[in-house]
Amino acid sequence: MAEISIDDQKLSAGLYIVATPIGNLGDISARAKDILSRVDAVACEDTRVTAKLMTAYGLKKPLVQYHEHNAAHQRPKILARIEAGEAIALVSDAGTPLISDPGYKLVEEAHAASLDVTSIPGPSAVVTALSLAGLPTNRFLFMGFPPNKTKARKEWFQAEVNTPASLVFYESAKRLPASLADAAESLGDRKAAVCRELTKKFEEVVLNDLNGLAAHYEASGPPKGEVVVVVSAPAKASKTEMSDTADLDEMILTALKHMTLKTASAFIAEQTGLRKKQVYARALELSDSK
Ligand code: SAM
Repeated sequence: MAEISIDDQKLSAGLYIVATPIGNLGDISARAKDILSRVDAVACEDTRVTAKLMTAYGLKKPLVQYHEHNAAHQRPKILARIEAGEAIALVSDAGTPLISDPGYKLVEEAHAASLDVTSIPGPSAVVTALSLAGLPTNRFLFMGFPPNKTKARKEWFQAEVNTPASLVFYESAKRLPASLADAAESLGDRKAAVCRELTKKFEEVVLNDLNGLAAHYEASGPPKGEVVVVVSAPAKASKTEMSDTADLDEMILTALKHMTLKTASAFIAEQTGLRKKQVYARALELSDSK
Protein backbone atom coordinates (compact mmCIF):
# COMPACT_ATOMS: atom_id res chain seq x y z
CA MET A 1 0.00 0.00 0.00
CA ALA A 2 1.23 3.47 -0.88
CA GLU A 3 2.35 5.68 1.97
CA ILE A 4 0.53 8.91 2.51
CA SER A 5 2.98 11.75 2.49
CA ILE A 6 2.56 14.27 5.29
CA ASP A 7 5.59 16.41 4.56
CA ASP A 8 4.40 18.21 1.46
CA GLN A 9 2.16 21.24 1.53
CA LYS A 10 -0.47 19.45 -0.51
CA LEU A 11 -1.68 16.30 1.18
CA SER A 12 -2.07 13.30 -1.06
CA ALA A 13 -5.57 11.99 -1.63
CA GLY A 14 -6.80 9.74 1.15
CA LEU A 15 -8.85 9.28 4.25
CA TYR A 16 -7.15 10.62 7.37
CA ILE A 17 -8.53 9.23 10.65
CA VAL A 18 -7.67 11.92 13.19
CA ALA A 19 -7.97 11.48 16.97
CA THR A 20 -8.89 14.59 18.94
CA PRO A 21 -8.85 15.28 22.72
CA ILE A 22 -11.30 13.63 25.14
CA GLY A 23 -11.48 16.74 27.26
CA ASN A 24 -8.19 18.56 27.55
CA LEU A 25 -7.52 20.65 24.44
CA GLY A 26 -3.79 20.33 25.05
CA ASP A 27 -3.96 16.67 24.11
CA ILE A 28 -4.15 17.25 20.34
CA SER A 29 -1.00 16.01 18.61
CA ALA A 30 1.18 18.24 16.46
CA ARG A 31 0.56 15.88 13.56
CA ALA A 32 -3.21 15.97 14.05
CA LYS A 33 -3.15 19.76 13.90
CA ASP A 34 -0.90 19.69 10.86
CA ILE A 35 -3.17 17.26 9.00
CA LEU A 36 -6.33 19.15 9.96
CA SER A 37 -4.76 22.34 8.62
CA ARG A 38 -4.01 20.73 5.25
CA VAL A 39 -6.98 18.48 4.39
CA ASP A 40 -9.58 19.60 1.87
CA ALA A 41 -12.46 18.87 4.25
CA VAL A 42 -13.22 17.37 7.64
CA ALA A 43 -15.97 14.78 8.05
CA CYS A 44 -17.37 14.98 11.58
CA GLU A 45 -20.27 13.84 13.74
CA ASP A 46 -21.49 17.27 14.76
CA THR A 47 -20.38 20.34 12.82
CA ARG A 48 -20.93 22.63 15.84
CA VAL A 49 -18.66 20.55 18.07
CA THR A 50 -15.94 20.25 15.43
CA ALA A 51 -16.17 23.91 14.37
CA LYS A 52 -15.56 24.85 18.01
CA LEU A 53 -12.58 22.51 18.20
CA MET A 54 -11.09 23.78 14.94
CA THR A 55 -11.52 27.39 16.10
CA ALA A 56 -9.71 26.57 19.34
CA TYR A 57 -6.69 25.58 17.21
CA GLY A 58 -7.06 28.50 14.81
CA LEU A 59 -8.15 26.22 11.95
CA LYS A 60 -10.95 26.58 9.45
CA LYS A 61 -11.98 23.91 6.95
CA PRO A 62 -15.16 22.90 5.18
CA LEU A 63 -17.02 20.46 7.45
CA VAL A 64 -19.07 17.53 6.22
CA GLN A 65 -21.51 15.83 8.57
CA TYR A 66 -20.94 12.11 8.96
CA HIS A 67 -22.97 10.46 11.70
CA GLU A 68 -24.93 7.30 12.43
CA HIS A 69 -28.08 8.55 10.71
CA ASN A 70 -26.68 9.94 7.46
CA ALA A 71 -23.63 7.68 7.03
CA ALA A 72 -25.06 5.46 4.28
CA HIS A 73 -25.95 8.56 2.25
CA GLN A 74 -22.70 10.44 2.93
CA ARG A 75 -20.25 7.59 2.47
CA PRO A 76 -20.29 7.36 -1.35
CA LYS A 77 -19.94 11.15 -1.57
CA ILE A 78 -16.89 11.21 0.70
CA LEU A 79 -15.30 8.27 -1.12
CA ALA A 80 -15.95 9.95 -4.48
CA ARG A 81 -14.19 13.09 -3.29
CA ILE A 82 -11.15 11.05 -2.26
CA GLU A 83 -11.18 9.23 -5.60
CA ALA A 84 -11.20 12.64 -7.27
CA GLY A 85 -7.97 13.52 -5.43
CA GLU A 86 -9.06 15.14 -2.17
CA ALA A 87 -7.66 14.58 1.31
CA ILE A 88 -10.52 14.11 3.78
CA ALA A 89 -10.12 13.87 7.55
CA LEU A 90 -12.54 11.96 9.75
CA VAL A 91 -12.89 13.14 13.35
CA SER A 92 -15.44 12.35 16.03
CA ASP A 93 -16.80 14.64 18.74
CA ALA A 94 -14.02 13.46 21.03
CA GLY A 95 -11.26 10.86 21.06
CA THR A 96 -10.52 8.31 18.40
CA PRO A 97 -12.99 7.86 15.54
CA LEU A 98 -14.46 4.34 15.19
CA ILE A 99 -14.11 3.66 18.94
CA SER A 100 -17.82 3.66 19.89
CA ASP A 101 -18.08 6.30 17.17
CA PRO A 102 -18.86 6.31 13.43
CA GLY A 103 -16.31 5.46 10.77
CA TYR A 104 -15.83 1.72 10.51
CA LYS A 105 -17.79 1.32 7.28
CA LEU A 106 -16.12 4.35 5.75
CA VAL A 107 -12.69 2.86 6.44
CA GLU A 108 -13.85 -0.56 5.23
CA GLU A 109 -15.14 0.84 1.96
CA ALA A 110 -12.12 3.09 1.46
CA HIS A 111 -9.90 -0.01 1.70
CA ALA A 112 -12.21 -1.90 -0.65
CA ALA A 113 -11.88 0.93 -3.17
CA SER A 114 -8.06 0.81 -2.79
CA LEU A 115 -7.97 4.35 -1.45
CA ASP A 116 -5.25 5.38 0.96
CA VAL A 117 -6.26 5.38 4.61
CA THR A 118 -4.06 6.46 7.46
CA SER A 119 -4.52 7.11 11.16
CA ILE A 120 -3.26 10.01 13.20
CA PRO A 121 -3.52 8.37 16.60
CA GLY A 122 -4.23 10.14 19.85
CA PRO A 123 -6.49 10.12 22.89
CA SER A 124 -9.13 7.52 23.54
CA ALA A 125 -11.07 7.11 26.77
CA VAL A 126 -10.60 3.33 26.79
CA VAL A 127 -6.79 3.50 26.82
CA THR A 128 -6.74 6.48 29.17
CA ALA A 129 -8.92 4.60 31.68
CA LEU A 130 -6.78 1.47 31.44
CA SER A 131 -3.65 3.52 32.07
CA LEU A 132 -5.17 4.96 35.25
CA ALA A 133 -7.21 2.14 36.79
CA GLY A 134 -4.28 0.14 38.17
CA LEU A 135 -5.91 -3.12 37.07
CA PRO A 136 -4.18 -5.67 34.81
CA THR A 137 -3.79 -4.40 31.27
CA ASN A 138 -2.04 -7.38 29.71
CA ARG A 139 -5.33 -8.52 28.24
CA PHE A 140 -8.49 -6.48 28.01
CA LEU A 141 -11.81 -6.62 26.27
CA PHE A 142 -13.33 -3.33 25.20
CA MET A 143 -17.08 -3.83 25.29
CA GLY A 144 -18.39 -0.45 24.15
CA PHE A 145 -21.69 0.65 25.74
CA PRO A 146 -23.92 -1.80 27.68
CA PRO A 147 -27.53 -2.22 26.52
CA ASN A 148 -29.98 0.18 28.21
CA LYS A 149 -32.42 -2.41 29.56
CA THR A 150 -31.59 -4.36 32.71
CA LYS A 151 -32.31 -7.86 31.38
CA ALA A 152 -30.23 -7.38 28.22
CA ARG A 153 -27.49 -5.70 30.24
CA LYS A 154 -27.22 -8.56 32.73
CA GLU A 155 -26.95 -11.04 29.84
CA TRP A 156 -24.38 -8.83 28.16
CA PHE A 157 -22.17 -8.97 31.28
CA GLN A 158 -22.95 -12.63 31.88
CA ALA A 159 -21.60 -13.52 28.43
CA GLU A 160 -18.13 -12.40 29.61
CA VAL A 161 -18.14 -13.98 33.05
CA ASN A 162 -15.31 -16.37 32.15
CA THR A 163 -13.39 -14.08 29.82
CA PRO A 164 -9.81 -14.09 31.11
CA ALA A 165 -9.28 -10.38 30.58
CA SER A 166 -10.00 -7.05 32.19
CA LEU A 167 -13.30 -5.69 30.89
CA VAL A 168 -13.70 -2.07 29.86
CA PHE A 169 -16.98 -0.43 29.07
CA TYR A 170 -18.36 3.04 28.45
CA GLU A 171 -21.48 4.17 30.23
CA SER A 172 -23.53 7.32 30.58
CA ALA A 173 -23.32 8.83 34.06
CA LYS A 174 -27.08 8.51 34.37
CA ARG A 175 -27.05 4.73 33.95
CA LEU A 176 -23.84 4.11 35.90
CA PRO A 177 -25.48 3.03 39.21
CA ALA A 178 -27.77 0.49 37.51
CA SER A 179 -24.98 -0.82 35.28
CA LEU A 180 -22.62 -1.34 38.19
CA ALA A 181 -25.31 -3.25 40.10
CA ASP A 182 -25.95 -5.49 37.07
CA ALA A 183 -22.22 -5.97 36.50
CA ALA A 184 -21.78 -7.05 40.14
CA GLU A 185 -24.66 -9.50 39.87
CA SER A 186 -23.54 -11.01 36.57
CA LEU A 187 -19.76 -10.99 36.97
CA GLY A 188 -19.46 -11.60 40.70
CA ASP A 189 -17.56 -9.31 43.01
CA ARG A 190 -14.32 -8.15 41.43
CA LYS A 191 -12.01 -5.21 41.67
CA ALA A 192 -13.11 -2.37 39.42
CA ALA A 193 -12.52 1.29 38.71
CA VAL A 194 -14.86 4.06 37.69
CA CYS A 195 -12.77 6.54 35.69
CA ARG A 196 -14.57 9.85 35.36
CA GLU A 197 -13.93 13.11 33.52
CA LEU A 198 -10.59 11.89 32.21
CA THR A 199 -8.09 14.62 31.30
CA LYS A 200 -10.52 17.26 32.62
CA LYS A 201 -10.55 19.45 35.73
CA PHE A 202 -12.59 17.02 37.84
CA GLU A 203 -10.83 13.84 36.75
CA GLU A 204 -11.43 11.09 39.29
CA VAL A 205 -10.74 7.38 39.65
CA VAL A 206 -12.86 5.52 42.21
CA LEU A 207 -11.49 2.08 43.05
CA ASN A 208 -13.45 -0.57 44.89
CA ASP A 209 -14.98 -3.96 44.26
CA LEU A 210 -18.07 -4.00 42.05
CA ASN A 211 -20.51 -4.35 44.96
CA GLY A 212 -18.82 -1.46 46.77
CA LEU A 213 -19.00 0.74 43.67
CA ALA A 214 -22.64 -0.18 43.04
CA ALA A 215 -23.52 0.71 46.66
CA HIS A 216 -21.52 3.95 46.47
CA TYR A 217 -23.28 5.23 43.33
CA GLU A 218 -26.66 4.02 44.47
CA ALA A 219 -26.23 6.14 47.58
CA SER A 220 -24.70 9.17 45.85
CA GLY A 221 -26.80 9.04 42.69
CA PRO A 222 -25.31 9.35 39.21
CA PRO A 223 -22.07 11.35 39.10
CA LYS A 224 -21.56 14.28 36.74
CA GLY A 225 -19.68 13.98 33.48
CA GLU A 226 -18.37 11.08 31.43
CA VAL A 227 -17.31 7.68 32.72
CA VAL A 228 -15.42 4.56 31.76
CA VAL A 229 -15.56 1.42 33.90
CA VAL A 230 -12.70 -1.06 34.12
CA VAL A 231 -13.39 -4.43 35.77
CA SER A 232 -10.65 -6.92 36.58
CA ALA A 233 -10.59 -10.41 35.09
CA PRO A 234 -11.91 -13.43 37.02
CA ALA A 235 -9.47 -14.28 39.82
CA LYS A 236 -7.61 -17.07 38.04
CA ALA A 237 -6.67 -15.11 34.93
CA SER A 238 -5.53 -12.05 36.83
CA LYS A 239 -3.05 -13.82 39.12
CA THR A 240 -0.20 -13.28 36.73
CA GLU A 241 0.27 -10.60 34.15
CA MET A 242 0.90 -12.41 30.91
CA SER A 243 2.99 -9.55 29.57
CA ASP A 244 5.28 -9.86 32.54
CA THR A 245 7.56 -12.39 30.90
CA ALA A 246 10.23 -11.93 33.56
CA ASP A 247 7.79 -13.17 36.23
CA LEU A 248 6.64 -16.05 34.07
CA ASP A 249 10.21 -17.06 33.25
CA GLU A 250 11.11 -17.03 36.92
CA MET A 251 8.11 -19.24 37.74
CA ILE A 252 9.08 -21.66 34.99
CA LEU A 253 12.74 -21.84 36.01
CA THR A 254 11.81 -22.45 39.65
CA ALA A 255 9.30 -25.15 38.72
CA LEU A 256 11.77 -26.82 36.38
CA LYS A 257 14.11 -27.41 39.30
CA HIS A 258 11.63 -29.92 40.72
CA MET A 259 9.35 -30.93 37.88
CA THR A 260 9.42 -32.23 34.34
CA LEU A 261 8.64 -29.81 31.52
CA LYS A 262 5.14 -31.17 31.15
CA THR A 263 4.29 -31.11 34.85
CA ALA A 264 5.79 -27.65 35.30
CA SER A 265 3.77 -26.27 32.36
CA ALA A 266 0.52 -27.76 33.64
CA PHE A 267 1.20 -26.47 37.15
CA ILE A 268 1.98 -22.92 36.00
CA ALA A 269 -0.97 -22.85 33.61
CA GLU A 270 -3.20 -23.80 36.53
CA GLN A 271 -1.65 -21.13 38.77
CA THR A 272 -1.77 -18.30 36.26
CA GLY A 273 -4.73 -19.00 34.03
CA LEU A 274 -2.40 -19.00 31.01
CA ARG A 275 -2.79 -21.62 28.31
CA LYS A 276 -0.83 -24.82 28.96
CA LYS A 277 0.47 -24.86 25.38
CA GLN A 278 1.77 -21.35 25.73
CA VAL A 279 3.57 -22.05 29.02
CA TYR A 280 4.98 -25.28 27.58
CA ALA A 281 6.38 -23.44 24.55
CA ARG A 282 8.11 -20.88 26.77
CA ALA A 283 9.39 -23.57 29.16
CA LEU A 284 10.83 -25.43 26.17
CA GLU A 285 12.61 -22.30 24.95
CA LEU A 286 14.04 -21.66 28.41
CA SER A 287 15.24 -25.22 28.94
CA ASP A 288 16.79 -25.26 25.44
CA SER A 289 18.70 -22.07 26.11
CA LYS A 290 20.19 -23.39 29.38
N1 SAM B 1 -14.35 7.83 20.47
C1 SAM B 1 -14.27 8.10 21.88
C2 SAM B 1 -12.97 7.53 22.43
O1 SAM B 1 -12.04 7.30 21.66
O2 SAM B 1 -12.86 7.36 23.63
C3 SAM B 1 -15.48 7.55 22.61
C4 SAM B 1 -16.78 8.09 22.13
S1 SAM B 1 -18.17 7.47 23.00
C5 SAM B 1 -19.48 8.06 22.02
C6 SAM B 1 -18.28 8.52 24.38
C7 SAM B 1 -18.01 7.79 25.68
O3 SAM B 1 -16.61 7.68 25.90
C8 SAM B 1 -18.55 8.50 26.91
O4 SAM B 1 -19.91 8.21 27.15
C9 SAM B 1 -17.67 7.95 28.01
O5 SAM B 1 -18.10 6.66 28.39
C10 SAM B 1 -16.33 7.83 27.27
N2 SAM B 1 -15.54 9.06 27.44
C11 SAM B 1 -15.23 9.96 26.50
N3 SAM B 1 -14.48 10.95 27.02
C12 SAM B 1 -14.34 10.68 28.34
C13 SAM B 1 -13.68 11.32 29.43
N4 SAM B 1 -13.03 12.47 29.26
N5 SAM B 1 -13.74 10.74 30.64
C14 SAM B 1 -14.38 9.58 30.82
N6 SAM B 1 -15.02 8.94 29.83
C15 SAM B 1 -15.00 9.47 28.61
